[in-house]
Amino acid sequence: MKIKFLNGDGEMSELIRSKDWSKTAIGSPETWPQSLQISLNILLNSKFPMFLWWGPQLICFYNDAYRPSLGINGKHPFILGMKAEEAWVEVWDIIKPLIDQVMEQAESVWHEDMLVPIYRNGAIEDVYWTFSYSPVFDDAEKVAGVLVTCTETTEKVIIKKQLEENERKLRLSILQAPLAIGIFRGPDHVTEIANSKALELWGRKEKDVLNKPILDVMPELADQGIKQLLDDVYETGNRFAAVELPVQILHGDQIETLYVNFSYEPLYDTQGKIDGIMTVGMDVTQQVMAHKKVEKNEEKLNIVITARELGVFEINLLTDEIESSGRLHEIFGYTKEEKLSHAALIGHLHPEDAQTRKTAFSEAYKSGVLYYESRIILRDKSLRWIEVKGKVFYQNNGEPHLIIGTLSDITDVKKHQQILADNERKFRLLADSMPQHIWTADPGGNLNYFNKSVFDYSGLTFEQINTDGWMQIVHPDDREGNAKTWHDSVVSGSDFLFEHRFRRFDGQYRWQLSRAVPQKDKEGNIQMWVGTSTDIHDIKELEQQKDYFISMASHELKTPVTSIKGYVQILQSVYKDKEDDFLKNTLKIIDKQVLVLTKLVTELLDLSRIKAGSLELSIEKFDLAELADEIIDEIKLINPGHTIDFSKECVMEVSADRQRISQVMINFLNNAIKYSPHSVCIRVRMVKDDREAKVIVQDYGIGISKADQQKIFERFYRAEGISEKTFPGFGIGLFIAAEIISRHGGNIGVESEPGKGSSFYFSLPLAAP
Ligand code: ADP
Repeated sequence: MKIKFLNGDGEMSELIRSKDWSKTAIGSPETWPQSLQISLNILLNSKFPMFLWWGPQLICFYNDAYRPSLGINGKHPFILGMKAEEAWVEVWDIIKPLIDQVMEQAESVWHEDMLVPIYRNGAIEDVYWTFSYSPVFDDAEKVAGVLVTCTETTEKVIIKKQLEENERKLRLSILQAPLAIGIFRGPDHVTEIANSKALELWGRKEKDVLNKPILDVMPELADQGIKQLLDDVYETGNRFAAVELPVQILHGDQIETLYVNFSYEPLYDTQGKIDGIMTVGMDVTQQVMAHKKVEKNEEKLNIVITARELGVFEINLLTDEIESSGRLHEIFGYTKEEKLSHAALIGHLHPEDAQTRKTAFSEAYKSGVLYYESRIILRDKSLRWIEVKGKVFYQNNGEPHLIIGTLSDITDVKKHQQILADNERKFRLLADSMPQHIWTADPGGNLNYFNKSVFDYSGLTFEQINTDGWMQIVHPDDREGNAKTWHDSVVSGSDFLFEHRFRRFDGQYRWQLSRAVPQKDKEGNIQMWVGTSTDIHDIKELEQQKDYFISMASHELKTPVTSIKGYVQILQSVYKDKEDDFLKNTLKIIDKQVLVLTKLVTELLDLSRIKAGSLELSIEKFDLAELADEIIDEIKLINPGHTIDFSKECVMEVSADRQRISQVMINFLNNAIKYSPHSVCIRVRMVKDDREAKVIVQDYGIGISKADQQKIFERFYRAEGISEKTFPGFGIGLFIAAEIISRHGGNIGVESEPGKGSSFYFSLPLAAP
């Protein structure tokens, strides 16, 4: 039988004709309703891909144009005449609602590029479709089937995706041309492209990076997690982006920390597989650094702001209404939400400070500025200090109507002030109870504090000392030396030590010993000077009396001693040839003792002269070596038990007081003999350079401790532990020697080790030729 609508010669017409329909739910074609026949006729003759689901079972028909969409080894041809539910199991969830919509509401549906995966080519494939489902009516005008006209757009969608991808690449490269852009290919991230900004950022040359794995070129990146990032983007396709990431990059031969904004974008091949990574980066180091600085300043500012923790208020003076900030509430012990009236705030004021506040307000109305400090009592009865500052705003008629201000909690500051005040009070009490004068000065040397004793002593007030200066109490003769010594100490930062006379309230000047020590901070900067002045007037007077006595006694002794010496010498020459040994010995002993006495008297006289500043020098040119030679010969005669090792080598001309210099040399030699009870050898050496001549007297005697070495040149000082019996003496010789040498512009000193001996030396400038 030949049915007209099936007489086409396409593959599908042929298949429908040859299929045995009698076994299907739809029955033989002869029984098919006319509407189906018409629909099939259109479908089979259409060159557009079409599909038809017919009847309640939705039996499948499709045309030749649709057939390629079913692929090879797919549903074709067995789904022809199959129920839709069975034929399209894999997409039934997607298409069933669409079919239902058409069947039940007789409406067409339209979709573009919709993903409807189907089984074909031996697998489920992602297939994109643009299609319409439209109702087909039966002879009774009821919806009997769904006609699908469709095109597979899979290829189009893929191309579109590629285009989008290309476009994205293009867009990025165009948009971000002034940024560092690089493209890496393959799993080893081989550099394919690197623009100049990228090369600049990486600190590399193009020839060094192109076609090489970037991590081989920049090994410093490996242990900064960059490899992991690249691998991750390459494997997962997840884009990576970072902002202000610190990266250490080798620039030249130095590792530099750069802050970079950058991203890694996966790149896809036409199959949609990742085959590379594009990096876009920007060096933001400078901005980050600048930002960090700003942040620091901001932080500082914040500290200032929060440290003050100001409460803010605005009082309307006409209505007495107040608006206050949360912080102000907190200071008064309220929550931020609690309502607070001006009266309530005033209620917290400490009763003793009520007047302070009142006065401050009336002043503020006049001056425009409000300021006061007061105590407040909180609800829990605790006491706090507040500081209030404000500005008054006036109406046109001049009446004040607003005060806007700030309020801060200054309890801690007050506590601190209290502690300081207590300490200050303690210090003052302490200083004022001292009999000594105590004073302080700023680092510049300006005196700024005096204890009570200064005022009591001088009879002056602080104002008087402050206006006319403290120097007014110093004796006029001492002022210049005082000012100079003080100035030197302030400049050099070394201790100040000075003896001067201060005028007492009754006009009497009394001697003071002043001392000041600089107080330094951890860095060694002077913070202040603390000074003391001690009354040494009585001690000084005693000393003067003693000096006077010594001077008198030595003068008075000089004449008798000289005449005894003369008479002894006469007696010795008279009895020189007598056999009376007793007489001769006695005269010898008297002569020796008179010598000791003469020496003492001479020394005492010298001492008085030094004190009085009347030690005169008579300068002449002479050979120091020759003088030494003479003296040594003499000393050898008197001390035959000692050997003095000396050889005169060259001439050493000096301009000096020959008599006084020999006195020094004799003192050295006598001491060397006296303080070497167990050794007989003494060495004298003389050296000179182009400026001076030096005489060294070395002994191998008892030696001198370090501490004593400092002091033996002082008046009356004798080393500790030496007994008057074994080593008689007064401790004057070296004092005089030091004075003589210093008057000559020379140096004197000692090097010694206890038990081993001493080397005393002095030097004198050589005479001009
Ligand atoms: P004196 O010897 O009369 O006591 P000096 O002024 O000459 O007075 O010496 C001061 C002190 O120095 C001595 O008392 C002694 O302690 C110490 N002294 C001086 N010369 C020596 C020396 N050569 N060896 C050890 N001590 C010495």
